[in-house]
Amino acid sequence: MLEFEGQVALITGAARGIGKSIADRIESRGGLTVRADFREWDEKIAKLGQLSYGIRLDVTNPDQVKKAVKQVVEEFGNIDILVNNAGITRDGLLVRMKDEDWGAVLSTNLDAVFYMSREVLPGMMKKRYGRIVNISSVVGQMGNPGQGNYVASKAGVIGLTKSVAREVASRGITVNAVAPGYIATKMSEEMNEKAKEQLEKMIPLGRVGTSDDIANGVCFLASKEAGYITGQVLGINGGMYM
Ligand code: NAD
Repeated sequence: MLEFEGQVALITGAARGIGKSIADRIESRGGLTVRADFREWDEKIAKLGQLSYGIRLDVTNPDQVKKAVKQVVEEFGNIDILVNNAGITRDGLLVRMKDEDWGAVLSTNLDAVFYMSREVLPGMMKKRYGRIVNISSVVGQMGNPGQGNYVASKAGVIGLTKSVAREVASRGITVNAVAPGYIATKMSEEMNEKAKEQLEKMIPLGRVGTSDDIANGVCFLASKEAGYITGQVLGINGGMYM
């Protein structure tokens, strides 16, 4: 099934983890993928594979975002799919949280979704087609002690998703969020063992999720077939939050 043939997808934070799985899956279904990350590649688009390109981008920098989106559009034409996936954690109890840790998390996880969407949407509006999928988190729905900054950013992503969905629905563009549960990646490795054990016990399906579990849901929302779904939050969490 080549669901994404002829389409251009821009995925942030795609050097590893969930973002990489999303990009690989879209590419395996015929989509041209531009993988953006500040961890790898150069500021000029580099060819990585037949349908795969990489660009170095710090999503917290609005000028870089503007430049990168312009480059992608000049090279490949309008962007059909934007996946706002780049994210970080800087955990700590609120009373001891440093301003830098609050700021860094809000800027990467929430401000960047605004910057990216602002630059990509005009092209989608012109084309009267587009799919935006924003990666939130189950903790943005539930709250989590020690993650006030992260939870605020991920709950913010849900609110932003719903507002933008309403703004652009008449242009054939859908905007949805995916809220992953506990997924095995480098990010979740950083959690302490006790927190990991506690989290695992809260998963009715009895296992930690994989990046591919998330990529499956993202691809569905990014597909043409999901055209009547907008402003929604798809929980992919093994039943952890219902
Ligand atoms: P990860 O740390 O493995 O990957 C995140 C990627 O984002 C990295 O490649 C990193 O370089 C990139 N990135 C970070 N800051 C960036 C910036 N300023 N500009 C560009 N790229 C940047 O994490 P992951 O687990 O794959 O997480 C992906 C998304 O899923 C994040 O938004 C995260 O909050 C969310 N999420 C993860 C889990 C989980 O359990 N792993 C659960 C819920 C939500």
